[in-house]
Amino acid sequence: MSKYYYDLHIHSCLSPCADDDMTPNNICGMAALKGLNIVALTDHNTCGNCESFLKVAKANGLIGIAGMELTTAEDIHMVCLFEFLQQAKDFSLAVQPYRGIFPNKVEIFGQQMLMDENDNVTGVDENFLPIATSIGLDEAFCLAQKYNALVFPAHIDRTANGIVSILGTIPKTPDFPCIEFNGKEDYQKYLKDFPIIESKSHVFNSDAHNLWSISEAENFIELNDEPYSSDLVRHELFEALRGKLTKGGNT
Ligand SMILES: [Zn+2]
Ligand SMILES: [Zn+2]
Repeated sequence: MSKYYYDLHIHSCLSPCADDDMTPNNICGMAALKGLNIVALTDHNTCGNCESFLKVAKANGLIGIAGMELTTAEDIHMVCLFEFLQQAKDFSLAVQPYRGIFPNKVEIFGQQMLMDENDNVTGVDENFLPIATSIGLDEAFCLAQKYNALVFPAHIDRTANGIVSILGTIPKTPDFPCIEFNGKEDYQKYLKDFPIIESKSHVFNSDAHNLWSISEAENFIELNDEPYSSDLVRHELFEALRGKLTKGGNT
């Protein structure tokens, strides 16, 4: 068993609200500098930069994870992580028909850049990405399950797009295996107010939209990594987060 420091919710320059310098190389370079081991890319309603991100993560000695932050029809943010890149790509295609058609206004919202592993711009997404999809929470959860995603409600401790602020509770269904907190300040309060959380895994992620917000090496999970391979560690992470996370913590 070894400790792995993680940040499983980071946006690249494909998300309009993220800084333009959130390139695959800058994100991974910063994550490595901060001492992180496992990082996930979770742009709004797309996995368009995941392939290059995974290549760059590997080159920086990091374990990269392909992901997406999906906006449900209720405006709830839901993080979907994939053990395999192809699952993420297929899910991204599956979500596309549900995305609203609303041209991105670059001067207001920012650019939505696709990049290769050398941070070259290979294209842009013309439609504003973060807008709510037409998939309701339950349907979105089921759709993500079809692609074997690990799904958790994002930043439940925030008012904007958090499941608690929108629904007033954490519903019994969908049965999320994991819950994401953005900060630690109200953690105990949420545990007390919503006992359902107790039975789930808990992760603390940055939701970074700029380089300095990427987590420091403070949140970790202990994983079986013998005989070591990055594929094994990634697999064990998914297994751990699908069960009850009792082996992790924060320093
Ligand atoms: Zn969010
Ligand atoms: Zn986010």
